[in-house]
Amino acid sequence: MSVPLPPSRRLPRSLYLHIPFCRRRCFYCDFPVVPLGDSADGSRSGSIRQYLELLHHDLEATPAGPPLSTVYIGGGTPSLLTVEQLQALLAAVRRRWRLAPGAEVTLEMDPGSFDEERLQGALAAGVNRVSLGGQSFDDAVLAGLGRSHRRAELLQSCRWLRQARAQGWLRSWSLDLIVNLPGQADDAWETTLAAALAEQPPHLSIYDLIVEPGTVFARAGARGALDLPDEDAAADRLIGTHHRLAAAGYGHYEISSWALPGHGARHNRTYWTGAGWWACGLGATAGAGAERLARPRTREAYAHWLQQWAGAQGGDGPPWPAPPVEDLLLVGLRCREGVSLGWLARARGITPAALQGDLEAVLAGWRRQGLVAWDGGRLRLLPPEGFCLSNAVLRDLLAWWQPRPAECAPGPPSPAGCR
Ligand code: SF4
Repeated sequence: MSVPLPPSRRLPRSLYLHIPFCRRRCFYCDFPVVPLGDSADGSRSGSIRQYLELLHHDLEATPAGPPLSTVYIGGGTPSLLTVEQLQALLAAVRRRWRLAPGAEVTLEMDPGSFDEERLQGALAAGVNRVSLGGQSFDDAVLAGLGRSHRRAELLQSCRWLRQARAQGWLRSWSLDLIVNLPGQADDAWETTLAAALAEQPPHLSIYDLIVEPGTVFARAGARGALDLPDEDAAADRLIGTHHRLAAAGYGHYEISSWALPGHGARHNRTYWTGAGWWACGLGATAGAGAERLARPRTREAYAHWLQQWAGAQGGDGPPWPAPPVEDLLLVGLRCREGVSLGWLARARGITPAALQGDLEAVLAGWRRQGLVAWDGGRLRLLPPEGFCLSNAVLRDLLAWWQPRPAECAPGPPSPAGCR
């Protein structure tokens, strides 16, 4: 035994690997990243090489389990890694776990951080899905976000990904965009959305801007210098986005995710369903059922943690603390299928009949407005309004949950399912 097993002993079939390096920190980002400068690249950076040694150590120390169905290499900017570095990582993953037939292997890539040769090398190494951090097709917006790429690089990246898919090398790819940005007018967003659709991504992730503490945007907000749309305008834009994408054939299967048929992200579903995943790397959080194990967020603390736990023999390592049940509830409600009413009643420690009564008392108004439903054994937010106005519904749901914290303690194994 080395790095700890989840106490539930349900061994995950998914793996997340974190590569924390970026060229610069974007103005809205609070992820555990290490900015290396605009010319950073895995072939030149000693920091990246040293970190990869730690990550290989982490991989070797993490217990082997059944073959993996999904691997997700995220960050940060993993496309800063050279092809050789990526090959070595995936080879280590295969040695440790093996990959199940048809496994989904996703690599996050940022425009401007890779060329066609590096993309082809990544695909040859086993990557079959790419998540492209586009964010916007407008150069002024990209500059205002603090991104290091521009529209021309994004268009070039989309073209390479489309070609790779047409040639059968790439199974699927996703384009990330951010909406409801400071000063963004409706027509500017519609132009970006039209530009995105013209690139024919099989999957789109569209994130509503959240101003996180400690970011450049948070500081601008504190000075009153962040011109954000109000809640109603932001929700209207998201509802319009839902209809536009539905007309183009995309299913809205999770609050921030749209996919053409057969292109839903399999790895992300492990987060929403509580199916469990391993995670290796700085700040990475592994999950099994209701348990979570977060690795430290600084390089020094991560190296120390690896020395302490990965070298230990016997024992179960550090505890896997259970997240609050309300966290699992919120995560489960993000996807179209919602959460099981039976799970919710057990987590709350009440009978199904009592739960029905509580939901009537707390959410009936939202149900009449078509935002939420509880039927067929599931509690669900109903797209588009339920997804786009989810904050209001979830606020009421959490206010109902709070008065009885003692009953959260046992916790359910998982919200069991949005498949
Ligand atoms: S590229 Fe992504 S991970 Fe890196 S700083 Fe920007 S938002 Fe954060």
